[in-house]
Amino acid sequence: MNEPLVARMREFGTTIFAEMTGLAVRTGSINLGQGFPDTDGPAAMLERAVEAIRGGLNQYPPGPGLPELRQAVAEHRKQHYGLVYDPDGEVLVTVGATEALAASVLALCEPGDEVIVFEPYYDSYAAAIALAGAVRRPVTLRPVGERFTFDPAELRAAVGPRTRAIMVNSPHNPTGTVFTRDELSLIAAVCQEHDLIAISDEVYEHLTFDGVEHIPLATLPGMRERTVMISSAGKTFSVTGWKTGWVCAPADLVSAVQSVKQFLTFTAGGPWQVAAAYALREELGWVAALRDSLAAKRDRLMAGLSAAGFGVYRPAGTYFVQTDIRPLGFTDGAELARRLPELAGVVAVPTQVFYDRTELGRHFLRFAFCKKDEIIDEAVARLARLGERTA
Ligand SMILES: *Cc1c(COP(=O)(O)O)cnc(C)c1O
Repeated sequence: MNEPLVARMREFGTTIFAEMTGLAVRTGSINLGQGFPDTDGPAAMLERAVEAIRGGLNQYPPGPGLPELRQAVAEHRKQHYGLVYDPDGEVLVTVGATEALAASVLALCEPGDEVIVFEPYYDSYAAAIALAGAVRRPVTLRPVGERFTFDPAELRAAVGPRTRAIMVNSPHNPTGTVFTRDELSLIAAVCQEHDLIAISDEVYEHLTFDGVEHIPLATLPGMRERTVMISSAGKTFSVTGWKTGWVCAPADLVSAVQSVKQFLTFTAGGPWQVAAAYALREELGWVAALRDSLAAKRDRLMAGLSAAGFGVYRPAGTYFVQTDIRPLGFTDGAELARRLPELAGVVAVPTQVFYDRTELGRHFLRFAFCKKDEIIDEAVARLARLGERTA
C-alpha cells in the first residue's frame, strides 16, 4: 500500500511529546519534556470522581456537558472575570482543551480560510487547521529582553481577505508569555477591523507568577461577541489525564462548535465533570497554592539552567522555561534534544517543532518545571555536567 495517511496530515508524524517521552522511558532519563505534573490534584476532587463512579454516573452525560459543571463554569467566569455566560447555550464541556480547539477550527473555518497563529504554537493548532483544510499564517513571538512578544506590524501584515480566525494562547506555551493589556488590545483591534473570530486558549489562566494578571481576551471591549474562550481542568487542577475542558462563547458560536464536537466524541467523562464542578467551586485556594509552588519551581529550574550555561527566559506563567542553547556551543535544538539523554540523562523538547519557520526556533529548548523539587534538583545537577563537558 502507498502511504495510507491523507496528504493533509503527512507533516504530522508522531507528536514530539510522544517521541520525547518515549526517549525518556527508553533511556531512563528525567523527563522535563512533556508538561504534566508528577503530583495529584486536590484529594477531595479526586474523591468526588470516585464517588461519582461508585454512585453509578457511568453512562453518557448530556451532549453539552452536565448542568452542574456548566453552572460552575458560568459562576467561575462571572466571579473571576466579570464575564456573563448562560450555562444553557453559552458553555460547552469538551474532551480537554484539545477537542475544544479542534472542534472550534473545524466548525468555524472553511477549506482555504486562513487562521493566524502565534509561533511557536501548541502543536495541536497546526493539526486542527490542517484537518479543516484551512491555512495557517504564523506571526512570530520573538524575545525582547526576558520575554517573548510580537511585532504589531507583523500581525497586521498577516491578515488578508481570506483570514477567518486568530488563535491566541495566553499564558503562552511554550514561551511563558502572558499577554499584556496593550498586546491584547492590538489583537482585539485587528479582530474587529477584519471581523475575525478569536479562538482563545486559556488553559494556564490560573498559573501566572509574580503578580502578573491573566486577562481573558473576551473581557476587552467588543471581544466577548467574537471570542471562543477555552479552558481545561487538566492544567488548573493537575489532572491532565482527565481531558475535561470547556468552551465559553456566544450561543451561535457554541452551537457551531457543538455541531462538530458531537461527532468527534459526542460526550465523555461524567465523573470528571462532577469532580471539576466541585473543584471550580471549592478548590481555587488549592490552585493558588499550586501557582505559588510552581513559581518557586520555575525559579529553581531557571537558576539551575543558567548555572549550566543556558540562556534563560523568564516565564510569567505556564509550566515551561524557554532556553537558548547557543551559549553552550550548540546550534540545533532538535539535535541536542536527541543527544541530551546520553549527554545528561535529561529530556527536553526542541521548540523549533512549534514553528512554521523552523529556523526561527532552531536554538531554543523547552524545559518543564511542573515536577517535584527533588526531580528538578537532580535534572539541574545532571545538566551542570553538560556545561563542564562543553567548556
Ligand atoms: C495542555 C495544553 C492543551 C491541552 O489541554 P487538554 O485539556 O489536555 O486537552 C491545550 N493548549 C495548551 C497551550 C496546552 O498547554
